[in-house]
Amino acid sequence: MADSSSSPGSIMVTGGAGYIGSHAVQRLLRDGHTVVCVDNLARGHRAAIDRLACDTLHFHQADIGDGDTIEKLLKDYNVSTIMHFAALAYVGESVTDPLKYYRNNAAGALAMLEAADRAGVSRFVFSSTCATYGEPPADMVPIPEHCPQSPISPYGASKLHVEHMLRDLAEAKRRANQPFGYAALRYFNVAGSDRSGLIGEDHDPETHLIPVVLQAAMGQRDGISIFGTDYPTDDGTCIRDYIHVEDLIDAHVTVMHALEPGDERHYNLGIGTGYSVRQIIDAAQRVTGTTLKITDGPRRAGDPPKLYANPAKIKGELGWTASLTDLDETIASAYRWFQKHPNGYDA
Ligand code: UDP
Repeated sequence: MADSSSSPGSIMVTGGAGYIGSHAVQRLLRDGHTVVCVDNLARGHRAAIDRLACDTLHFHQADIGDGDTIEKLLKDYNVSTIMHFAALAYVGESVTDPLKYYRNNAAGALAMLEAADRAGVSRFVFSSTCATYGEPPADMVPIPEHCPQSPISPYGASKLHVEHMLRDLAEAKRRANQPFGYAALRYFNVAGSDRSGLIGEDHDPETHLIPVVLQAAMGQRDGISIFGTDYPTDDGTCIRDYIHVEDLIDAHVTVMHALEPGDERHYNLGIGTGYSVRQIIDAAQRVTGTTLKITDGPRRAGDPPKLYANPAKIKGELGWTASLTDLDETIASAYRWFQKHPNGYDA
């Protein structure tokens, strides 16, 4: 686990009522930080915040696009570091409704950064994505950070715009002798839930593979449709890298403690092993002891065939690696949450 001894002061977590953001809030509170959580609750869950409630958690329902409110919160709480998770994150939806993604993810982050700049925030940890790589050339999988970024979905493009804003802002601040440090953490696929069983994944609609498969195993869906079986992979289905959500957050904490004003850090966060859609379904059947109805369906727009990380850079620079690399254990962790909360945060 990351060293949590040095305190960077108040931390703002945007999207803190969402799946990944709530795990960040939980971890930062455990580490003794004061957390200012901002979420517009469009897709996040008030119940996640209520479950984490304590004296050092300050929740504000606000939109990241509302720069004046964000600036005021940053100043009121003397925030030194922002972890920015708030975003829309469905590749398929981004293809059908691209402007919504540019509005929320790119314009929203722009308003955040303007507010952060006005408030003098010196460190920014950004939730980026492997979708910024698009379809990497075959000789660049597993994917290193220097792989060309050429997204094939508006989701990936919206996140890449934010990486560019951060790069350019950091450069301008350096020239102005007001160093600003940022990290762009490019997530692969995130799965599982926290060990205490308090918070977990609850999307509406749920489109992500592992939750969908587990809901099918619990009889909440008829079965599972595989989106494309003619990809250039061993079994014809897409390959992804599934990192446990608590490992993902541990990497954020490690990076946050290492981040100095003036730094520009880019890391891939994955386990370094890819699993196909069929392998995920097989593992879920093993873990749940069920046999699922599987349908071979057409490809989903915006899906590259193979995305898995070369995680060597963060290991080399910060000594960080994922602690959970066993696929069945990751799926079992997600399954525990879904069994305990079959209707998510709804009672
Ligand atoms: N997928 C699938 N059936 C589903 C949901 C997802 O075949 O019901 C596939 C999807 O096409 C992709 C992989 O599973 O290749 C992971 O998709 P997910 O939506 O979980 O994450 P993404 O890779 O889009 O971030």
